[in-house]
Amino acid sequence: MNCRVNALSIIASRPSRAHTSGEYGKFSKEFGSLVFNRSIMQKMFPKEIFQNIVNAADSREKLRPEYADTVAVAMKEWAMSHGATHYTHWFQPLTNASAEKHDAFIDWGTGDKVIEKFSGRQLIQGEPDASSFPSGGLRSTYEARGYTGWDPTSPVFLWEGGDGITLCIPSVFFSWTGDVLDNKIPLLRSEQNLNNAVMRLLKKTGIQADFVNVFLGLEQEYFVIDRLWRDLRPDILLTGRTLFGRASPKGQELQDHYFGCVKDRVLAFMQDFEIAALRLGIPVRTRHNEVAPAQHEVAPVYERASLAIDHNILLMELMRHIAGKHNLSCLLHEKPFKGLNGSGKHCNWSIGTNNGINLLDPNGIPDNNLHFLVLQTAIMHAVYKHSKLLRASIGTASNDYRLGGHEAPPAIMSIYLGGALEELFSDIESTGTHTSAAKSGHIDLGHVLPTLNMDNTDRNRTSPIAFTGNKFEFRALGSSASPSTLVTVLNTTIAQSLNEIMDKIDAHKGSNLTETVIPVLQEYLKASKGVRFSGDNYSEQWRDEAAQRGLPNISKSIDSFDALKSPETIAAFKGILTPGELASRFEVTVEHYAHILSIEYRTMLDIFYTKILPVLFHQQHAVANTLGSVKAATAPVKANISGLHRHFELLVELTEAAIQSAEQLNEDLIAAKSLPIGSQAKVYANEVQRAAEQLRKNVDELEGIVDDTLWQLPKYRELLFIL
Ligand code: ADP
Ligand code: MG
Repeated sequence: MNCRVNALSIIASRPSRAHTSGEYGKFSKEFGSLVFNRSIMQKMFPKEIFQNIVNAADSREKLRPEYADTVAVAMKEWAMSHGATHYTHWFQPLTNASAEKHDAFIDWGTGDKVIEKFSGRQLIQGEPDASSFPSGGLRSTYEARGYTGWDPTSPVFLWEGGDGITLCIPSVFFSWTGDVLDNKIPLLRSEQNLNNAVMRLLKKTGIQADFVNVFLGLEQEYFVIDRLWRDLRPDILLTGRTLFGRASPKGQELQDHYFGCVKDRVLAFMQDFEIAALRLGIPVRTRHNEVAPAQHEVAPVYERASLAIDHNILLMELMRHIAGKHNLSCLLHEKPFKGLNGSGKHCNWSIGTNNGINLLDPNGIPDNNLHFLVLQTAIMHAVYKHSKLLRASIGTASNDYRLGGHEAPPAIMSIYLGGALEELFSDIESTGTHTSAAKSGHIDLGHVLPTLNMDNTDRNRTSPIAFTGNKFEFRALGSSASPSTLVTVLNTTIAQSLNEIMDKIDAHKGSNLTETVIPVLQEYLKASKGVRFSGDNYSEQWRDEAAQRGLPNISKSIDSFDALKSPETIAAFKGILTPGELASRFEVTVEHYAHILSIEYRTMLDIFYTKILPVLFHQQHAVANTLGSVKAATAPVKANISGLHRHFELLVELTEAAIQSAEQLNEDLIAAKSLPIGSQAKVYANEVQRAAEQLRKNVDELEGIVDDTLWQLPKYRELLFIL
């Protein structure tokens, strides 16, 4: 029997609700119950140890090694009281996923007995065999040693999986020579760099604070389909997206899914992963249906950026894991379905002081917004100067299918400020003064700063980087990506621009600070003018205008990756990553890009020859038989059967064209294989991709004329609407 048809009856008999674990509804009680959090530590540790851990969590002090054993013992007690049997250092190698290697809490006791044990040394440092993680040439197998080290900025938590519980220790990952092998170390360093630069600005402008935090709120988009559909589609299983599939006659055009009523099975899944997330201390708040059928969004409340990123990686893991329990599959890919909206991960980014001032809020401090003008100028300048690097930092093979697709921003990096700010900054840039429409008077910025009144609803949904009242929303990041690289690049380049601006301000000895600052801002605003754009980023005109402004428009990520090791990047990343480490990231990124595309093309060929072509032969056979018998039957009456002839011809011609496209794809793949990896990636992204698109086009047309009961691959209408 056709397994696709069989699946329909299995899915129809699934219960509409699955069991939701936990006490749903008592969020304040459940929140952080699986986290070794500050209140637990306060109870368990003497004051000085507790203070040391809190300072380390705020990146303000190193953990004292002499406390490690005490902390480890308390952690083990707490974890075991919750049923944990193992511990692991949980880290983020350069694979876009998290990594873990579990060890039981056991050691030899006396005689042949084992005892539960966990030492400070085991807490502070782990030594996984690191030879199989990507290192971009920084390490060869014979010198494989890599170390993981506890990162106290992110709290220790318990992971429930299988039948057991594991104590997870968020960690950084580096080689035995001290080379950085993960995404976390540069992120933490970049937070520190930005903190130092912003503190210079705060001191200068007389704002009291001990330190600043970078905050991040991540809106995560995803699709949910029945798990059986995924299992019946090797493309979704292996690549996360459909490589074939004719558009369903109904897609998203009625706009009836956006903010619509969530289906019961999906809602039960959402509730289940939400409660699991809350227990892990992830403050999930918002959920809703997105534009495409089967597409949804979840957004936690913003947190310190490095923690928000750990939480996002955990959340994605939870979503995949818990979907399985509901017989669902959670697709985090940027473009699972051709012709429908893709999924992004909007990064809402801001900077705030430890005493609660949002420095991107123009009214954050009454009668003082000089710091705001300086920060905004530094941000615009950084985006302008490092536009290509920013493009690279959101660049993946999967995001390339989404960017510029009229549901996501184009690959041109520009900033939308909103009407009032746009006017303000153009005025400062051109005249050093500002005429406020509201006050209809001339305000000389040299003496009086305008009261800025930002309207949160002043929005432009087409811009890749939009100011939304008191934060920037970066919309170009893909849904499956770790935000680490993007946020590291933002922090690093903004710190660089801000330091440059502060150097210039410090060099002036003028008594009036505003008079000193404005000419410096003018200089930087002039330089970065091209990056400000308020119009429709999806339009053709913007592409032309952006080209005239000299802004890069890089549609294939592979063409941006060399920015990861350019002289400008090396200069900005001083103290964060060495030129060697940057070069290694370039290698890893290019390799990953090539592998993703190569896996897709090989999966396509496999599906074509084993699941599609046999069906086409069946169909040809059936129509040929029909043609023969109809011809014989109609011969005496000379009936017109040209339609039947044409249909048969179409079937044969399209099948022939599909076979030729598959042969072409195969040849292109073989030819590309012999090239060095960099050229291979480029050829995959261009020539080979064209052959793959041609094959898909032929097959999708055939799907429209082949007997529905013969077709093996679940169809778009089923994937999207049957659940
Ligand atoms: P929308 O879809 O309208 O953009 P959402 O409510 O879906 O808004 O998501 C907004 C995200 O921005 C949330 O994660 C929220 O916590 C976050 N956010 C709000 N204020 C800030 C801020 N100052 N800094 C960083 N993120 C913020
Ligand atoms: Mg949202």
